[in-house]
Amino acid sequence: MKYVSTRDQAPKLAFDEVLLAGLARDGGLYVPEAWPQFSAADIAAMKDLSYAETAVRVIRPFVEGSMTDAELEAIVADAYSHFDHPDVAPLKELGDNEYLMELFHGPTLAFKDQAMQFLGPLFDFVLNRSGRRVTIVGATSGDTGSAAIEACRDRDAIDIFILYPNGRVSDVQRRQMTTVASSNVHCIALEGTFDDCQSLVKGLFNDIAFRDRWRLSAVNSINWARIVAQIVYYFFAAVKVGAPDRPVSFAVPTGNFGNVFAGYAARKMGLQIDQLVVGSNRNDILTRFFETGTMKTEGVVPTISPSMDIQISSNFERLLHDILDGDGAWVRSLMEDFQAAGQFSIAEDLLRDLTSVFSGARFDDDQTRAVIGQLHRETGELIDPHSAVGIAAGRALRRDQSVPMIALATAHPAKFPDAVKAAAGVAPGLPAHLADLFERPERYEILANDRETVGAFIAGTLEGESAGSLAS
Ligand SMILES: *Cc1c(COP(=O)(O)O)cnc(C)c1O
Repeated sequence: MKYVSTRDQAPKLAFDEVLLAGLARDGGLYVPEAWPQFSAADIAAMKDLSYAETAVRVIRPFVEGSMTDAELEAIVADAYSHFDHPDVAPLKELGDNEYLMELFHGPTLAFKDQAMQFLGPLFDFVLNRSGRRVTIVGATSGDTGSAAIEACRDRDAIDIFILYPNGRVSDVQRRQMTTVASSNVHCIALEGTFDDCQSLVKGLFNDIAFRDRWRLSAVNSINWARIVAQIVYYFFAAVKVGAPDRPVSFAVPTGNFGNVFAGYAARKMGLQIDQLVVGSNRNDILTRFFETGTMKTEGVVPTISPSMDIQISSNFERLLHDILDGDGAWVRSLMEDFQAAGQFSIAEDLLRDLTSVFSGARFDDDQTRAVIGQLHRETGELIDPHSAVGIAAGRALRRDQSVPMIALATAHPAKFPDAVKAAAGVAPGLPAHLADLFERPERYEILANDRETVGAFIAGTLEGESAGSLAS
Protein backbone atom coordinates (compact mmCIF):
# COMPACT_ATOMS: atom_id res chain seq x y z
CA MET A 1 0.00 0.00 0.00
CA LYS A 2 1.33 3.43 -0.99
CA TYR A 3 0.19 6.83 0.26
CA VAL A 4 -0.20 10.08 -1.68
CA SER A 5 -0.41 13.67 -0.50
CA THR A 6 -3.80 15.39 -0.74
CA ARG A 7 -1.96 18.20 -2.58
CA ASP A 8 -0.23 15.87 -5.01
CA GLN A 9 3.23 17.46 -4.87
CA ALA A 10 5.01 15.24 -2.37
CA PRO A 11 6.58 11.81 -2.94
CA LYS A 12 4.48 8.66 -2.52
CA LEU A 13 5.42 6.92 0.70
CA ALA A 14 4.97 3.54 2.38
CA PHE A 15 3.06 3.24 5.67
CA ASP A 16 6.10 3.34 7.98
CA GLU A 17 7.43 6.44 6.20
CA VAL A 18 4.04 8.16 6.50
CA LEU A 19 4.06 7.39 10.22
CA LEU A 20 7.32 9.28 10.73
CA ALA A 21 6.65 12.07 8.23
CA GLY A 22 3.34 13.37 9.66
CA LEU A 23 2.51 16.28 7.35
CA ALA A 24 3.52 15.86 3.68
CA ARG A 25 6.29 18.10 2.33
CA ASP A 26 3.83 20.05 0.14
CA GLY A 27 1.71 20.91 3.20
CA GLY A 28 -0.86 18.20 2.37
CA LEU A 29 -1.97 15.16 4.34
CA TYR A 30 -1.21 11.57 3.40
CA VAL A 31 -4.06 9.33 2.24
CA PRO A 32 -4.04 5.78 0.82
CA GLU A 33 -3.76 5.52 -2.94
CA ALA A 34 -6.89 3.32 -2.92
CA TRP A 35 -9.32 2.17 -0.22
CA PRO A 36 -8.98 -1.48 0.79
CA GLN A 37 -12.27 -3.32 0.15
CA PHE A 38 -14.16 -5.60 2.53
CA SER A 39 -16.98 -7.73 1.10
CA ALA A 40 -20.13 -8.61 3.04
CA ALA A 41 -18.58 -12.03 3.66
CA ASP A 42 -15.39 -10.43 5.04
CA ILE A 43 -17.49 -8.31 7.41
CA ALA A 44 -19.71 -11.24 8.44
CA ALA A 45 -16.52 -13.15 9.33
CA MET A 46 -15.70 -10.48 11.95
CA LYS A 47 -18.74 -11.46 14.01
CA ASP A 48 -17.08 -13.36 16.85
CA LEU A 49 -13.69 -11.67 16.78
CA SER A 50 -12.16 -9.85 19.74
CA TYR A 51 -11.31 -6.17 19.39
CA ALA A 52 -7.63 -7.00 18.77
CA GLU A 53 -8.51 -9.63 16.15
CA THR A 54 -10.81 -7.14 14.42
CA ALA A 55 -7.99 -4.59 14.48
CA VAL A 56 -5.61 -6.97 12.71
CA ARG A 57 -8.16 -7.61 9.93
CA VAL A 58 -8.95 -3.92 9.43
CA ILE A 59 -5.38 -2.58 9.70
CA ARG A 60 -3.60 -5.30 7.70
CA PRO A 61 -4.20 -3.91 4.18
CA PHE A 62 -3.02 -0.44 5.27
CA VAL A 63 0.38 -1.68 6.51
CA GLU A 64 0.93 -4.17 3.71
CA GLY A 65 4.58 -4.05 2.60
CA SER A 66 5.70 -2.37 5.85
CA MET A 67 5.43 -5.34 8.23
CA THR A 68 4.48 -9.00 8.38
CA ASP A 69 1.17 -10.29 9.76
CA ALA A 70 2.97 -11.63 12.83
CA GLU A 71 4.59 -8.25 13.48
CA LEU A 72 1.22 -6.48 13.18
CA GLU A 73 -0.36 -9.02 15.52
CA ALA A 74 2.32 -8.35 18.15
CA ILE A 75 1.88 -4.57 17.91
CA VAL A 76 -1.90 -4.84 18.16
CA ALA A 77 -1.71 -7.24 21.13
CA ASP A 78 0.48 -4.73 22.96
CA ALA A 79 -1.70 -1.76 21.97
CA TYR A 80 -4.99 -3.06 23.34
CA SER A 81 -3.64 -4.70 26.51
CA HIS A 82 -3.82 -1.45 28.48
CA PHE A 83 -7.61 -0.93 28.38
CA ASP A 84 -9.75 -1.54 31.43
CA HIS A 85 -12.61 -3.25 29.57
CA PRO A 86 -12.32 -6.63 27.79
CA ASP A 87 -14.21 -5.26 24.75
CA VAL A 88 -11.86 -2.22 24.53
CA ALA A 89 -14.73 -0.23 22.93
CA PRO A 90 -17.88 -1.61 24.61
CA LEU A 91 -21.40 -0.83 23.39
CA LYS A 92 -24.20 0.12 25.76
CA GLU A 93 -27.84 0.21 24.73
CA LEU A 94 -29.33 3.62 25.50
CA GLY A 95 -32.81 3.15 24.12
CA ASP A 96 -34.68 1.80 21.15
CA ASN A 97 -32.01 1.03 18.55
CA GLU A 98 -29.80 3.69 20.11
CA TYR A 99 -26.35 2.81 21.44
CA LEU A 100 -23.37 4.41 23.13
CA MET A 101 -19.90 3.21 22.15
CA GLU A 102 -17.54 3.90 25.05
CA LEU A 103 -14.15 4.96 23.72
CA PHE A 104 -12.74 6.04 27.10
CA HIS A 105 -11.46 2.80 28.59
CA GLY A 106 -7.80 3.54 27.79
CA PRO A 107 -5.18 4.82 30.25
CA THR A 108 -6.02 8.55 29.88
CA LEU A 109 -9.83 8.25 29.66
CA ALA A 110 -10.34 9.80 26.22
CA PHE A 111 -10.79 8.29 22.77
CA LYS A 112 -7.31 9.56 21.81
CA ASP A 113 -5.95 6.43 23.56
CA GLN A 114 -7.63 4.24 20.96
CA ALA A 115 -5.12 5.46 18.37
CA MET A 116 -2.19 6.55 20.57
CA GLN A 117 -1.88 3.17 22.28
CA PHE A 118 -1.39 1.71 18.78
CA LEU A 119 1.09 4.44 17.80
CA GLY A 120 3.42 3.77 20.75
CA PRO A 121 4.38 0.17 19.93
CA LEU A 122 4.20 1.01 16.21
CA PHE A 123 6.83 3.75 16.58
CA ASP A 124 8.96 1.38 18.66
CA PHE A 125 8.79 -1.28 15.96
CA VAL A 126 9.65 1.05 13.07
CA LEU A 127 12.45 2.83 14.97
CA ASN A 128 14.08 -0.28 16.43
CA ARG A 129 14.11 -1.95 13.04
CA SER A 130 15.96 0.96 11.48
CA GLY A 131 18.08 1.84 14.53
CA ARG A 132 16.67 5.37 14.54
CA ARG A 133 15.53 7.63 17.38
CA VAL A 134 12.94 10.41 17.30
CA THR A 135 11.99 13.37 19.42
CA ILE A 136 8.25 13.83 19.50
CA VAL A 137 7.22 17.43 20.06
CA GLY A 138 3.59 18.39 20.40
CA ALA A 139 1.20 21.04 21.69
CA THR A 140 -1.92 20.13 23.62
CA SER A 141 -5.02 21.80 24.96
CA GLY A 142 -5.60 18.74 27.14
CA ASP A 143 -6.45 15.24 25.93
CA THR A 144 -3.89 14.68 23.18
CA GLY A 145 -0.87 15.42 25.37
CA SER A 146 -1.64 12.89 28.08
CA ALA A 147 -2.58 10.22 25.53
CA ALA A 148 0.69 10.80 23.63
CA ILE A 149 2.76 10.73 26.82
CA GLU A 150 1.10 7.54 28.03
CA ALA A 151 1.78 5.89 24.65
CA CYS A 152 5.46 6.93 24.47
CA ARG A 153 6.59 6.68 28.10
CA ASP A 154 9.54 4.35 28.77
CA ARG A 155 10.24 3.73 25.09
CA ASP A 156 13.99 3.69 24.42
CA ALA A 157 13.98 5.21 20.94
CA ILE A 158 11.64 8.11 21.80
CA ASP A 159 11.86 11.33 23.75
CA ILE A 160 8.63 13.25 24.06
CA PHE A 161 8.16 16.97 24.81
CA ILE A 162 4.62 18.23 25.30
CA LEU A 163 3.79 21.94 25.52
CA TYR A 164 0.59 23.01 27.26
CA PRO A 165 -0.64 26.50 28.16
CA ASN A 166 0.35 27.17 31.78
CA GLY A 167 -2.76 27.49 33.99
CA ARG A 168 -5.15 26.82 31.12
CA VAL A 169 -5.71 23.05 31.23
CA SER A 170 -7.82 21.34 33.89
CA ASP A 171 -6.14 19.91 37.00
CA VAL A 172 -6.97 16.35 35.93
CA GLN A 173 -5.56 16.95 32.45
CA ARG A 174 -2.36 18.58 33.76
CA ARG A 175 -1.73 15.90 36.36
CA GLN A 176 -2.24 13.13 33.80
CA MET A 177 0.80 14.60 32.01
CA THR A 178 3.01 15.90 34.80
CA THR A 179 2.80 12.92 37.17
CA VAL A 180 4.29 10.46 34.66
CA ALA A 181 7.69 9.63 36.15
CA SER A 182 9.40 8.26 33.01
CA SER A 183 12.73 9.91 32.15
CA ASN A 184 11.89 10.22 28.41
CA VAL A 185 8.81 12.37 29.18
CA HIS A 186 9.18 16.16 29.37
CA CYS A 187 6.28 18.52 30.10
CA ILE A 188 6.58 22.20 29.28
CA ALA A 189 4.10 24.65 30.81
CA LEU A 190 4.31 27.53 28.36
CA GLU A 191 3.53 31.07 29.49
CA GLY A 192 0.86 31.59 26.82
CA THR A 193 -2.30 30.21 25.21
CA PHE A 194 -2.85 26.95 23.34
CA ASP A 195 -2.44 28.86 20.07
CA ASP A 196 0.97 30.09 21.31
CA CYS A 197 1.95 26.48 22.05
CA GLN A 198 0.86 25.39 18.62
CA SER A 199 2.62 28.14 16.73
CA LEU A 200 5.79 27.64 18.75
CA VAL A 201 5.79 23.93 17.85
CA LYS A 202 5.19 24.83 14.22
CA GLY A 203 8.18 27.19 14.43
CA LEU A 204 10.40 24.39 15.75
CA PHE A 205 9.36 22.10 12.88
CA ASN A 206 9.96 24.87 10.33
CA ASP A 207 13.51 25.32 11.63
CA ILE A 208 14.93 22.65 9.30
CA ALA A 209 18.34 22.52 11.00
CA PHE A 210 16.72 21.99 14.41
CA ARG A 211 14.23 19.49 13.04
CA ASP A 212 16.92 17.39 11.37
CA ARG A 213 19.41 17.65 14.25
CA TRP A 214 16.93 16.28 16.79
CA ARG A 215 14.85 14.17 14.34
CA LEU A 216 11.55 15.79 15.32
CA SER A 217 8.39 13.80 14.74
CA ALA A 218 4.72 14.43 15.46
CA VAL A 219 1.76 12.41 16.69
CA ASN A 220 -0.91 15.08 16.13
CA SER A 221 -4.29 14.28 14.68
CA ILE A 222 -3.17 14.53 11.05
CA ASN A 223 -0.90 11.47 11.51
CA TRP A 224 -2.39 8.86 9.19
CA ALA A 225 -1.66 5.97 11.56
CA ARG A 226 -4.09 7.47 14.06
CA ILE A 227 -6.92 7.40 11.51
CA VAL A 228 -6.17 3.77 10.70
CA ALA A 229 -6.51 2.74 14.35
CA GLN A 230 -9.81 4.63 14.61
CA ILE A 231 -11.39 2.82 11.64
CA VAL A 232 -11.31 -0.38 13.71
CA TYR A 233 -14.06 0.55 16.18
CA TYR A 234 -16.51 1.50 13.42
CA PHE A 235 -16.32 -2.08 12.08
CA PHE A 236 -16.30 -3.58 15.59
CA ALA A 237 -19.47 -1.75 16.65
CA ALA A 238 -21.33 -2.18 13.36
CA VAL A 239 -20.85 -5.95 13.41
CA LYS A 240 -22.16 -6.07 16.99
CA VAL A 241 -25.47 -4.44 15.96
CA GLY A 242 -26.02 -6.52 12.83
CA ALA A 243 -23.64 -5.59 9.99
CA PRO A 244 -23.36 -6.62 7.21
CA ASP A 245 -27.07 -7.58 7.24
CA ARG A 246 -28.28 -4.11 8.15
CA PRO A 247 -26.91 -0.56 7.80
CA VAL A 248 -25.86 1.46 10.84
CA SER A 249 -25.41 5.16 11.61
CA PHE A 250 -22.93 6.96 13.85
CA ALA A 251 -23.07 10.25 15.76
CA VAL A 252 -19.66 11.76 16.46
CA PRO A 253 -18.70 14.78 18.59
CA THR A 254 -16.24 16.45 16.25
CA GLY A 255 -13.29 18.83 16.41
CA ASN A 256 -10.42 18.15 14.02
CA PHE A 257 -12.56 15.73 11.95
CA GLY A 258 -10.18 12.83 12.65
CA ASN A 259 -12.67 10.61 14.42
CA VAL A 260 -15.58 10.97 12.01
CA PHE A 261 -13.25 10.76 8.99
CA ALA A 262 -12.34 7.26 10.18
CA GLY A 263 -16.07 6.45 9.96
CA TYR A 264 -16.13 7.76 6.41
CA ALA A 265 -13.11 5.55 5.63
CA ALA A 266 -14.94 2.50 7.00
CA ARG A 267 -17.83 3.33 4.65
CA LYS A 268 -15.46 3.61 1.67
CA MET A 269 -14.07 0.19 2.63
CA GLY A 270 -17.46 -1.46 2.28
CA LEU A 271 -19.20 -1.01 5.64
CA GLN A 272 -22.83 -0.02 5.08
CA ILE A 273 -23.11 3.27 6.96
CA ASP A 274 -26.32 5.24 6.45
CA GLN A 275 -25.58 8.46 8.35
CA LEU A 276 -22.50 10.11 9.82
CA VAL A 277 -23.83 12.80 12.14
CA VAL A 278 -21.36 15.45 13.26
CA GLY A 279 -21.95 17.14 16.62
CA SER A 280 -20.54 20.64 17.22
CA ASN A 281 -20.51 22.93 20.21
CA ARG A 282 -20.75 26.70 19.60
CA ASN A 283 -17.59 26.39 17.50
CA ASP A 284 -19.72 25.10 14.65
CA ILE A 285 -17.62 25.56 11.50
CA LEU A 286 -18.44 22.02 10.33
CA THR A 287 -22.16 22.25 11.00
CA ARG A 288 -22.25 25.53 9.06
CA PHE A 289 -20.36 23.84 6.22
CA PHE A 290 -22.82 20.96 5.91
CA GLU A 291 -25.69 23.47 5.97
CA THR A 292 -24.25 25.88 3.37
CA GLY A 293 -21.31 24.35 1.46
CA THR A 294 -19.06 27.14 2.69
CA MET A 295 -16.22 26.53 5.14
CA LYS A 296 -15.58 29.80 6.94
CA THR A 297 -13.48 30.40 10.03
CA GLU A 298 -14.75 32.47 12.94
CA GLY A 299 -13.19 33.20 16.33
CA VAL A 300 -13.02 30.34 18.84
CA VAL A 301 -15.19 30.62 21.95
CA PRO A 302 -14.46 28.54 25.08
CA THR A 303 -17.07 25.87 25.95
CA ILE A 304 -17.56 23.00 28.41
CA SER A 305 -16.43 20.61 25.64
CA PRO A 306 -12.94 22.12 25.14
CA SER A 307 -11.55 19.36 22.92
CA MET A 308 -13.92 20.59 20.23
CA ASP A 309 -13.05 24.29 20.62
CA ILE A 310 -11.29 24.55 17.30
CA GLN A 311 -11.29 26.93 14.41
CA ILE A 312 -10.09 24.67 11.56
CA SER A 313 -10.78 20.94 11.21
CA SER A 314 -7.48 19.85 9.68
CA ASN A 315 -8.54 16.34 8.67
CA PHE A 316 -11.33 17.75 6.52
CA GLU A 317 -8.75 18.10 3.74
CA ARG A 318 -8.73 14.29 3.46
CA LEU A 319 -12.49 14.27 2.80
CA LEU A 320 -12.11 17.00 0.18
CA HIS A 321 -9.42 14.98 -1.60
CA ASP A 322 -11.76 11.99 -1.69
CA ILE A 323 -14.86 13.78 -2.98
CA LEU A 324 -12.78 15.62 -5.59
CA ASP A 325 -11.68 12.19 -6.91
CA GLY A 326 -8.09 12.64 -5.80
CA ASP A 327 -7.56 15.88 -7.74
CA GLY A 328 -4.64 17.30 -5.73
CA ALA A 329 -4.46 20.55 -7.73
CA TRP A 330 -8.11 21.25 -6.90
CA VAL A 331 -7.55 20.54 -3.19
CA ARG A 332 -4.49 22.80 -3.26
CA SER A 333 -6.44 25.69 -4.78
CA LEU A 334 -9.29 25.37 -2.22
CA MET A 335 -6.74 25.30 0.60
CA GLU A 336 -5.04 28.37 -0.83
CA ASP A 337 -8.43 30.16 -0.88
CA PHE A 338 -8.94 29.09 2.71
CA GLN A 339 -5.53 30.36 3.78
CA ALA A 340 -5.93 33.68 1.97
CA ALA A 341 -9.58 34.53 2.59
CA GLY A 342 -10.54 32.38 5.58
CA GLN A 343 -13.12 30.56 3.50
CA PHE A 344 -13.85 28.28 0.54
CA SER A 345 -16.99 26.82 -0.99
CA ILE A 346 -17.89 23.67 -2.88
CA ALA A 347 -20.48 23.30 -5.66
CA GLU A 348 -24.06 22.34 -4.94
CA ASP A 349 -23.89 18.86 -6.50
CA LEU A 350 -20.85 17.98 -4.37
CA LEU A 351 -22.61 19.26 -1.26
CA ARG A 352 -25.67 17.18 -2.12
CA ASP A 353 -23.51 14.03 -2.41
CA LEU A 354 -21.81 14.78 0.89
CA THR A 355 -24.99 15.52 2.80
CA SER A 356 -26.53 12.24 1.69
CA VAL A 357 -24.20 10.82 4.37
CA PHE A 358 -23.02 13.71 6.54
CA SER A 359 -25.05 16.19 8.53
CA GLY A 360 -24.23 18.42 11.46
CA ALA A 361 -25.95 19.95 14.47
CA ARG A 362 -24.73 22.45 17.06
CA PHE A 363 -25.47 22.63 20.78
CA ASP A 364 -24.50 25.37 23.21
CA ASP A 365 -23.40 24.72 26.79
CA ASP A 366 -26.91 25.00 28.28
CA GLN A 367 -28.27 22.47 25.80
CA THR A 368 -25.30 20.19 26.47
CA ARG A 369 -25.87 20.31 30.23
CA ALA A 370 -29.56 19.57 29.65
CA VAL A 371 -28.66 16.41 27.70
CA ILE A 372 -26.30 15.23 30.46
CA GLY A 373 -29.00 15.76 33.08
CA GLN A 374 -31.74 14.14 31.01
CA LEU A 375 -29.71 11.05 30.16
CA HIS A 376 -28.73 10.62 33.79
CA ARG A 377 -32.38 10.79 34.89
CA GLU A 378 -33.56 8.45 32.08
CA THR A 379 -30.85 5.80 32.17
CA GLY A 380 -28.60 6.42 35.17
CA GLU A 381 -25.63 6.95 32.80
CA LEU A 382 -23.22 9.80 33.44
CA ILE A 383 -21.71 11.16 30.25
CA ASP A 384 -19.11 13.84 29.59
CA PRO A 385 -19.98 17.07 27.70
CA HIS A 386 -18.34 15.95 24.41
CA SER A 387 -20.29 12.69 24.36
CA ALA A 388 -23.47 14.64 25.17
CA VAL A 389 -23.03 16.78 22.07
CA GLY A 390 -22.72 13.61 19.97
CA ILE A 391 -25.82 11.98 21.45
CA ALA A 392 -27.85 15.16 21.00
CA ALA A 393 -26.78 15.47 17.36
CA GLY A 394 -27.69 11.85 16.65
CA ARG A 395 -31.13 12.32 18.18
CA ALA A 396 -31.78 15.57 16.34
CA LEU A 397 -30.80 14.40 12.86
CA ARG A 398 -31.73 10.73 12.79
CA ARG A 399 -33.58 9.89 9.55
CA ASP A 400 -34.65 6.28 10.04
CA GLN A 401 -35.55 4.79 13.42
CA SER A 402 -35.01 1.26 12.11
CA VAL A 403 -31.30 1.93 11.54
CA PRO A 404 -29.25 1.59 14.74
CA MET A 405 -27.70 4.90 15.80
CA ILE A 406 -24.39 4.53 17.61
CA ALA A 407 -23.19 7.64 19.46
CA LEU A 408 -19.48 7.78 20.27
CA ALA A 409 -18.59 8.57 23.90
CA THR A 410 -15.19 10.22 23.53
CA ALA A 411 -14.25 10.96 27.16
CA HIS A 412 -14.89 9.49 30.61
CA PRO A 413 -17.15 11.82 32.65
CA ALA A 414 -14.48 12.04 35.40
CA LYS A 415 -12.27 13.92 32.97
CA PHE A 416 -14.70 16.87 33.16
CA PRO A 417 -16.07 16.52 36.71
CA ASP A 418 -17.19 20.14 37.23
CA ALA A 419 -19.34 20.31 34.09
CA VAL A 420 -20.86 16.89 34.78
CA LYS A 421 -21.64 17.72 38.42
CA ALA A 422 -23.27 21.00 37.42
CA ALA A 423 -25.45 19.22 34.87
CA ALA A 424 -26.39 15.98 36.64
CA GLY A 425 -25.92 16.89 40.29
CA VAL A 426 -23.56 13.93 40.71
CA ALA A 427 -19.77 14.04 40.64
CA PRO A 428 -18.21 11.20 38.61
CA GLY A 429 -15.31 9.37 40.31
CA LEU A 430 -11.96 8.60 38.71
CA PRO A 431 -11.36 4.94 37.82
CA ALA A 432 -9.14 2.92 40.17
CA HIS A 433 -5.88 3.29 38.22
CA LEU A 434 -6.10 7.09 38.58
CA ALA A 435 -7.65 7.27 42.04
CA ASP A 436 -4.44 8.65 43.63
CA LEU A 437 -3.77 11.12 40.79
CA PHE A 438 -3.94 14.09 43.14
CA GLU A 439 -1.34 12.61 45.52
CA ARG A 440 1.30 11.92 42.88
CA PRO A 441 4.29 14.29 42.56
CA GLU A 442 4.34 16.56 39.49
CA ARG A 443 7.27 17.34 37.22
CA TYR A 444 7.24 20.13 34.60
CA GLU A 445 9.21 23.12 33.38
CA ILE A 446 7.62 26.57 33.14
CA LEU A 447 9.08 28.34 30.09
CA ALA A 448 8.57 31.71 28.43
CA ASN A 449 6.67 31.84 25.14
CA ASP A 450 9.87 32.13 23.13
CA ARG A 451 11.12 29.69 20.50
CA GLU A 452 14.80 30.17 21.39
CA THR A 453 14.12 29.35 25.04
CA VAL A 454 12.08 26.24 24.30
CA GLY A 455 14.51 25.08 21.59
CA ALA A 456 17.43 25.47 23.98
CA PHE A 457 15.57 23.53 26.68
CA ILE A 458 14.87 20.64 24.30
CA ALA A 459 18.46 20.58 22.98
CA GLY A 460 19.91 20.84 26.49
CA THR A 461 17.74 18.01 27.78
CA LEU A 462 18.63 15.71 24.89
CA GLU A 463 22.35 16.54 25.08
CA GLY A 464 22.32 15.86 28.81
CA GLU A 465 20.69 12.47 28.18
CA SER A 466 23.18 11.33 25.57
CA ALA A 467 26.10 12.51 27.76
CA GLY A 468 24.58 10.52 30.63
CA SER A 469 24.25 7.39 28.57
CA LEU A 470 27.87 7.68 27.34
CA ALA A 471 29.09 8.02 30.91
CA SER A 472 27.15 5.04 32.22
C1 LIG B 1 -10.19 15.08 20.49
C2 LIG B 1 -11.56 14.95 21.06
C3 LIG B 1 -12.71 15.15 20.26
C4 LIG B 1 -12.64 15.59 18.82
O1 LIG B 1 -12.18 14.57 17.96
P1 LIG B 1 -11.67 14.93 16.49
O2 LIG B 1 -11.05 13.68 15.98
O3 LIG B 1 -10.67 16.04 16.67
O4 LIG B 1 -12.85 15.36 15.70
C5 LIG B 1 -13.95 14.95 20.85
N1 LIG B 1 -14.06 14.62 22.16
C6 LIG B 1 -12.97 14.42 22.94
C7 LIG B 1 -13.18 14.08 24.38
C8 LIG B 1 -11.69 14.58 22.42
O5 LIG B 1 -10.62 14.39 23.22
